[in-house]
Amino acid sequence: MTSPAPRAPSRKEPIRHFLPGPVYVTEEVRRAMTAPIVSHRSRAFQEVYGRVAADLRGIFRTGRDVPSATGSATLVMEIAVGSTVRRDVLHLVCGAFSERWHAISRALGRRADRLDVPWGRAVDPDRVRQALRRKRYEAVTVVHNETSTGVINPLAEIARTVREESDALVLVDAVSSLAGAPVETDAWGLDVVLTGSQKALAAPPGLVPFTASERAEARAAEVEPRGFYTDLLRYLRRHRKDGPITTPAIPVVWALERQLARIAEEGLEARWERHRWLQERMTRWLEEGGGARGVTFAVEDREIRSPTVSCLRPPPGVDAQALVARLGEKGYTVAGGYGAWKPSTFRIGHMGEVRREDLDELLTVVEETLDEGDPQ
Ligand code: PLP
Repeated sequence: MTSPAPRAPSRKEPIRHFLPGPVYVTEEVRRAMTAPIVSHRSRAFQEVYGRVAADLRGIFRTGRDVPSATGSATLVMEIAVGSTVRRDVLHLVCGAFSERWHAISRALGRRADRLDVPWGRAVDPDRVRQALRRKRYEAVTVVHNETSTGVINPLAEIARTVREESDALVLVDAVSSLAGAPVETDAWGLDVVLTGSQKALAAPPGLVPFTASERAEARAAEVEPRGFYTDLLRYLRRHRKDGPITTPAIPVVWALERQLARIAEEGLEARWERHRWLQERMTRWLEEGGGARGVTFAVEDREIRSPTVSCLRPPPGVDAQALVARLGEKGYTVAGGYGAWKPSTFRIGHMGEVRREDLDELLTVVEETLDEGDPQ
């Protein structure tokens, strides 16, 4: 038996855009971006920015400050390492975005080691423990939800292991998990957590909300140079004084404020539950309509399947990229595979505002498209 689909705040449009980011944004949130542009040092802006920061604290589950950088999530991946690591950092690599973090550290000239996990699997905390016993690291990076493979890592256990074994900071990319899956910044002892406005928060792209623990802040004070636009401490100090360090993406701040009100209306835990339910729906479909047509999950272990994105293999003989293109012709956007998995997989993002009826409609169209066979 399956539980009834959780409810979500109302909206007028059906969703036909299932990218795992940037995700569909509701009409009312898009409209919020048409509000007049004001000075980012004005009281009017500061009031909205302050409300956004307060709401984000609730979503990050932290008592610490939550500044929002203007840029894309990659900016704060770079800030996190560049501002807190002098020499040695360990990257837990299980897909394209965790590889990116490793590449960032190397580009910054840090001694970046990697603990590799085969794509489609989660990071095993015991392997992290062994790595930390072999060498001292200043930080460990972990991508909570690997958008390229559709795997969610056991973040709480990984963070606990790092804490037990070392004084390394835990730097977390929660880009495609925050607001779609539990992330307990303070309770799990996470030192830097970053996300992107365009993922499970379901706002337009352009802002990167993040947190930094007291430990991370103290560590950053010992790292020189930290750059200017990439200086973690500059963001924190300015945030506490009067807001963003430089001109922010003001329309996105307006939109995020509106979207955070929608999230509050639904309730954060109800939102996690809806995403969990959507993952279950995908798993059921793979056992029924999708499975009957030969579609399979790229992630075998159902316990680690992401609640926000599913990575799938098309039936034998069906080209993943051609299938994505044919769905696009019918007005449904899904994502192709990423990196090494590009030729062999496609991905359905079910994060943000996606509801049961949206996903069901998409899955019916996928079935119809597969039944049509290859176009001649
Ligand atoms: N980390 C994860 C897990 C992602 O899914 C993405 C984007 O898809 C990024 C980082 C990079 O985000 P951005 O393109 O906003 O820099």
